[in-house]
Amino acid sequence: MLKSATDPKSIRMTEEEGYPSQARGMLYPEWGSWLASVNQPRYRAGHIWDWLHRKKIRRWDEASNLPKKLLGQLQESFGIYDPELVRVEGSSDTTRKFLWRLEDRANIESVWIPANPASFGKSSSRTTLCVSTQVGCAYGCKFCASGLAGWKRDLDASEIVNQILAVERWASSQENDKKDEVSADAEKRRIQNLVIMGMGEPLANYDQLLRALRILNHSEGIPIGARRVTISTSGLAPQIERLAKEPEQFRLAVSLHGATNETRSKIMPVNRKYPLEKLIPALESYREERGKMITLEYILIAGVNDHLQEIPHLAKLAKSLNAKVNLIPYNRVDGLEWVRPTEERQELFYETLKSAGARVTLRREKGHDINAACGQLRLKEEGLGK
Ligand code: SF4
Repeated sequence: MLKSATDPKSIRMTEEEGYPSQARGMLYPEWGSWLASVNQPRYRAGHIWDWLHRKKIRRWDEASNLPKKLLGQLQESFGIYDPELVRVEGSSDTTRKFLWRLEDRANIESVWIPANPASFGKSSSRTTLCVSTQVGCAYGCKFCASGLAGWKRDLDASEIVNQILAVERWASSQENDKKDEVSADAEKRRIQNLVIMGMGEPLANYDQLLRALRILNHSEGIPIGARRVTISTSGLAPQIERLAKEPEQFRLAVSLHGATNETRSKIMPVNRKYPLEKLIPALESYREERGKMITLEYILIAGVNDHLQEIPHLAKLAKSLNAKVNLIPYNRVDGLEWVRPTEERQELFYETLKSAGARVTLRREKGHDINAACGQLRLKEEGLGK
């Protein structure tokens, strides 16, 4: 059956076939078994992979070195769906925010942060993309636009992978001024770092996220090494423990935003299910298993969590976990009352925490002038923001 580009079911895993119905959701070894099942040589997996992930084709008939019979089989079994670019907004610091429309007309966002000496509060010569993993979010963190309209659905692996490919294609088109051209010079603009920090709680979509990262991680594909991937979670303790046991060396960032249950619960409803007594042991086990430094994200919100009494708790926690604290001044969200602290207050919090012995950075935030906080562009597009 031909996969229709407008049939929302075509983006879900089809259990009776045993393979994802979207080609870019297939793992490399799955291509080998599928090819064998349709009496085609397994070595074609490399060709298919190259067309899908390096040449970034949009239709099977662009794969010019594949035999006609195989092309027919591929067309019958797998769709290739690219997200439609609804809008791209730029900021004065060259960050770009993309609003994509998916096959079922759901909107998601990605944020592209080009190589820049001040990306994410520290030096970086690498291009970073922040991607979404769900449409909306069920976790309702009080500072976040993505949670305002609730959760709609999980993204499948191909929809996560497609965000990277679509942005790389867009970056090529900007330089070439030819939208469909795949530049031979693409290496220079290739996305090297991923932060899984866009719309959605990544660890609530665990299986599709891991599938997508394994596709992106493959050496013959894009490829983005696990060490260059940061997964950010609101603090789902059981999934953090599960992630600790995966073979890949992903980096972990946790949205902490409060170092006591009292403060954290005001900001993060998830803290009622996984309070610090559950979250901290999960983080300890991640650090022990992985030996990786964890980042504690801390959005500074005026009058909510920027009081200096929070600092001893935060410093103690960061030191015991050997974690780095990333202070992020709050981005105002339409429809929410909270505001960012003054620059003086931000600096005072930063300096006091540093003096308390914590490893800390203060993000001089990129993308502030284009609503870079996740979910805001989507809310505007769908008329859900105030
Ligand atoms: S911060 Fe993340 S987990 Fe919290 S509501 Fe926003 S998208 Fe969901």
